Amino acid sequence: MTALVLVLIASELVAQSTQVYDAGHHTLKVQQTKMGSLFEITVVDPDPVHGEQVINDAFREIDRIESLISSWRDDSETSRINAQAGIAPVVVTRETFDLVARSQKVSKLTNGAFDITIGSVLTLWDFKTRAPAVPDASQIQQALKLVDYRLIELDLEALTVFLPRKGMRLGLGAIGKGYAANRAAALIRAAGIMGGVVNAGGDLFVFGKDGDDLPWKISIAHPREGNRRLAELRLLDQAIVTSGDYERFFKVNGERYSHIIDPRTGSPTRSLQSATLICPDAEVADALATALFVLGVEGLDLVDRLTGFSAIVVDWEGEVHMTRDLKIRLGNETP
Ligand code: AMP
Ligand code: MG
Repeated sequence: MTALVLVLIASELVAQSTQVYDAGHHTLKVQQTKMGSLFEITVVDPDPVHGEQVINDAFREIDRIESLISSWRDDSETSRINAQAGIAPVVVTRETFDLVARSQKVSKLTNGAFDITIGSVLTLWDFKTRAPAVPDASQIQQALKLVDYRLIELDLEALTVFLPRKGMRLGLGAIGKGYAANRAAALIRAAGIMGGVVNAGGDLFVFGKDGDDLPWKISIAHPREGNRRLAELRLLDQAIVTSGDYERFFKVNGERYSHIIDPRTGSPTRSLQSATLICPDAEVADALATALFVLGVEGLDLVDRLTGFSAIVVDWEGEVHMTRDLKIRLGNETP
């Protein structure tokens, strides 16, 4: 039997922080709330003191990224860009600049299914209110005029981002957690940790081996039936990210409206219940999972064309579809 040591940190600073050390497997797991979601970092390290120190550094890195790009903080760089929409370009860090530039690339690749300028439409759909309502079609049409990733003006020399129309809003909610997972994992590996998992609110990056010296085993859950597994995979140095309609949604007259908006219509997409993307980069996986959620089953063709990328989706009727490589891997199809 492995000894399981449970330490609850009762600190005012890190409220809701829990950590578990499994001495038999040399694994340390710490959970903290970040970016509005539950994050969990696991490292394999025979020295729990070192492991804890590295995990704390990784969480500090995630805090730093959150303060840079959070839409909920008025002083973040993205909020400053939004406040200056239609007024003036905003000088940002190279880091934010590059993230916006990479977001535009994903938009291009996905024909605009992923679009960080969806913000103006998104504010019309209030997923937090107790009395949810479907916005007017005319309001949506009006806001859609402000949605177009190609309008974002980037000036590399001045290091500025400019939203040229008043009311434009950008938000990195569909790519930020993946970026944070990448950065946290890179920091942990640079500290000499050979294996671990960064779970950024359900966006996973796994690296190296687990406490049994095997690639990490990851299960993909069915979006509606919590106990049903769509797949179970052993992954080595991979990100696995799911976008779903179950995270944030409301119902009006029995219709379900979720938080992922189709930039072509300005309304929540209705083709999938979940979209899971697997590839070696958590940021790309995050952005592409959101895009795939918008594109629906047809989006699998795009993923099939990308070497080293796999995806599995559950459609509106609950049917499961996946990329060719995954079918082969899961043994549903002969190679
Ligand atoms: P994710 O959970 O990564 O799929 O991100 C979903 C979040 O991204 C939503 O809660 C919105 O804030 C934002 N979002 C919604 N629709 C889109 C879209 N088509 N492209 C980019 N971001 C979006
Ligand atoms: Mg995403």
